[in-house]
Amino acid sequence: MEKVFEDAKPILEKLLEHGHEAYFVGGAVRDSLLGRPIHDIDIATSAKPQEVQKLFKSVIPVGIEHGTVIVVLNGVAYEVTTFRRESEYKDFRRPKQVAFISNLHEDLKRRDFTINAMALDYNGKLIDPFNGQKDIENKLIRTVGSPYERFQEDPLRMLRAIRFLSQLNFSLEKETYSTIKKMNAHITHLSVERIAQEFEKLMLGQANNNALQHLVQLGLYLYLPCLKEYRKVIEQLSVLNLSILSNASEAWALLLYYMETEPRKILKAWKCSNELMRHVEMLLTELKKDRDKQFDPFQFYQLGRSLSLSYVRLYTIIFGGNLKEHVNAFKKTYEELPIKERKELAVNGKDFLAIIDKKPGPWLAGLLSEIEKAVINKKVQNDKNKLREWGKNWYNQFGKSF
Ligand code: ATP
Ligand code: MG
Repeated sequence: MEKVFEDAKPILEKLLEHGHEAYFVGGAVRDSLLGRPIHDIDIATSAKPQEVQKLFKSVIPVGIEHGTVIVVLNGVAYEVTTFRRESEYKDFRRPKQVAFISNLHEDLKRRDFTINAMALDYNGKLIDPFNGQKDIENKLIRTVGSPYERFQEDPLRMLRAIRFLSQLNFSLEKETYSTIKKMNAHITHLSVERIAQEFEKLMLGQANNNALQHLVQLGLYLYLPCLKEYRKVIEQLSVLNLSILSNASEAWALLLYYMETEPRKILKAWKCSNELMRHVEMLLTELKKDRDKQFDPFQFYQLGRSLSLSYVRLYTIIFGGNLKEHVNAFKKTYEELPIKERKELAVNGKDFLAIIDKKPGPWLAGLLSEIEKAVINKKVQNDKNKLREWGKNWYNQFGKSF
């Protein structure tokens, strides 16, 4: 068994010692069979949440009503979830209470896809009642049981199918595919937050081009917030070099660049965070500048290192060229910046209030921003005396009109 599982074995051990069943389940089992890096390890057990809580010292009761308790062991968090049955979804809403059961097989049966419905016992034996391993070998995403019923229970699974297709570079099993095509409209019942989470993962998967093509082929895009009118844009995106994309801000900026619409309106409809919105807007502003203003030191200064790299990646996807060369050009320019942040300027507002006889006002902000630009463009050295001199001259020429 891999080290990450070995590290988590004391949790299984304790549950077993107390007469409960306990297994590793879900994504970790799948990823281990695929030889992919494993991130979180989930554990399923016959023990009730309260019993789990009693057995371990460090627990966080994150979702007791859904049967989930986080157990922290050596600084690592493990989700321990009580076996449960597929809950009844009333009006597409998840129920408040779930039915706990004592049987692993039933728990695996409620899971979305065969590749996600396998368990590993304490000795490393695979429990695979729905032939997930075979589907892994054939690179297939197939629902556990009837796709119609499973998508009816939870339409998010249709998007999760495309998300896994994207992340794993798998195909959809035939019936899973044709059922999504028939039931696509059901995703309108889902909350935006759940949709957004899967959509962002889908945009960043290794087979993201293929995933976008599936959103079109299966008609799912029609029911994603605000994307109904943008079939052409999604198709256009699906043939770009999307392997370069590395985070959600980049994915959104790219999509919005081609949508040519009010970014804020779309991002709000998708309930994106304010931070993401700010990043996307900054990236779009730069991408829309004239070509001779691209790769300009002041631009990198304003964006900062991490957003500049996002910008460079997007620039490469949209305008072409070689990513490595662009990144190197950025790094050289960025390293040569005389200052990386405003606080590194050798002067501040107070310095000018001491030498210019005028009350603080918009002129001061104007002056500081001009000084910043002059330093970045190497028109003046970042030296207190030189900047004071430069500032005074600027004020005499332009400052009075403020
Ligand atoms: P990731 O590596 O992205 O976390 P994952 O397979 O762990 O992938 P999660 O969304 O974390 O995916 O879900 C954990 C497990 O719970 C899945 O492997 C699956 O067995 C089950 N699951 C999650 N969401 C659903 C759902 N909507 N319907 C049925 N089963 C689900
Ligand atoms: Mg997971």
